Amino acid sequence: MASKIALVKYTASPDSLKNCIALCDGFKTLKPSDSVLIKPNLVAWDDRFPIAPFGVYTTTRLMEDLIICLKDAGCSKIVIGEGSVQFKKSVGTDTAYQGLGYRHLEKRYGVVLVDFNKSKAVEFDYHNGQVLHIAEEAVETDFFINFPVLKTHGQTKVSLGLKNLKGCLKLASKRHCHHPESGLEFSFSHIADFVQPKLTIIDGIYALEKGALHFGNAYRKDIIIASIDALGADLAGAQAIGYGPDDIAHFHYYAERQGKSVSLADYEMTGEPLANHVKPLKWDWAWTRDNTGPGIFEKLGVTGLALPKYDETLCSGCSPIANMSNILAISAFKGQPLPKVEILNGKKMLARPGYDKTVLLGNCIIKANKGNPNIQEAIPVKGCPPSESDVTEALRSAGLNVSINAYYGYMKQQSEKYNGKEGYDSGFYRAADSIESVLAIENPEK
Ligand code: SF4
Repeated sequence: MASKIALVKYTASPDSLKNCIALCDGFKTLKPSDSVLIKPNLVAWDDRFPIAPFGVYTTTRLMEDLIICLKDAGCSKIVIGEGSVQFKKSVGTDTAYQGLGYRHLEKRYGVVLVDFNKSKAVEFDYHNGQVLHIAEEAVETDFFINFPVLKTHGQTKVSLGLKNLKGCLKLASKRHCHHPESGLEFSFSHIADFVQPKLTIIDGIYALEKGALHFGNAYRKDIIIASIDALGADLAGAQAIGYGPDDIAHFHYYAERQGKSVSLADYEMTGEPLANHVKPLKWDWAWTRDNTGPGIFEKLGVTGLALPKYDETLCSGCSPIANMSNILAISAFKGQPLPKVEILNGKKMLARPGYDKTVLLGNCIIKANKGNPNIQEAIPVKGCPPSESDVTEALRSAGLNVSINAYYGYMKQQSEKYNGKEGYDSGFYRAADSIESVLAIENPEK
């Protein structure tokens, strides 16, 4: 029998989500005695330049709605688990929980919050001795609910349910997925084999174009997609933002192993017609034709310097550093050609000839370019990832008159870009204080 995929318009809490789950028989196999693990997308937390939450994080509103639905179904053992990127030591999953109102959910509903970065791991051999370490709570639960956001991604085109599972990995395994030989989409597509989500719910209250932490563009979309079929939910989610199955490599890797179809025609769509909710969103950032920097370099006339486009080996640790170097490079441009400097990141870029200095950002790229005869003078910036101050210092020592304040100004502007704009309601990222919610917890029979 074809798996159902439900699509509903979000109009009210918790009824819209409740309806969506019912339409796809999402709780058909759920027992009140089950331990439930919910994996939202709380990708990273930045306390200095807060990430505008729209389309980046699972909304706290829908998370609360889901908890209410689970309580209504008689479940009492509910765990929320995430392993957010840690930009610095004390800022990670716990600060994301704090900032997005999850502590309130903990108090109000008795849910348990787990930081996968601190969890014990279970090891899985996913391909000829290559292993992934997955947080044990994600593997050992009875009923895993995957709760991603409707968003694009600069390396994998879409980041929906299958990609969201990457947050269940321990840090070394996250980095392993970005290894040039693993192949990012091939490796992370295996996580669902081991975690086996029983239900995927895609939060499409907002959708994110050119998705990234601070830099994407969010649109209000007001839809929820759910299915007990992990691939089915992702196929519908991808379609809603303009991507067919053949656009997404990880859909095919998963489907081939699991013997599943990548054609939506082989699933049963229920609820709203998907065609009424399709709005294509871009995933990619334009780069100059000679791969010397982001598209804006061409518009501004930046020459001399080269910042080749990031590739799939750039992992979340170095990603902010790569973005920072783009902004710093622009800050050094005063209308004249910049010094002949090439700046590399990730794990596999190789320095090209013709540059006087090569700045190597992070341990991986230093290693990849050891002995590269194209390098005249290397400026290695050690670290995994390197620190902002070391990067700034390295660019200055390469002869670039960069301004750290220009970078800070840009990040502040990204943090505040939706302020005062219609439709961008930060209330979605706080626990509700509605009397109904309080009643729901005080009266679990309801
Ligand atoms: S150096 Fe950078 S790219 Fe390499 S593993 Fe560390 S954070 Fe990732």
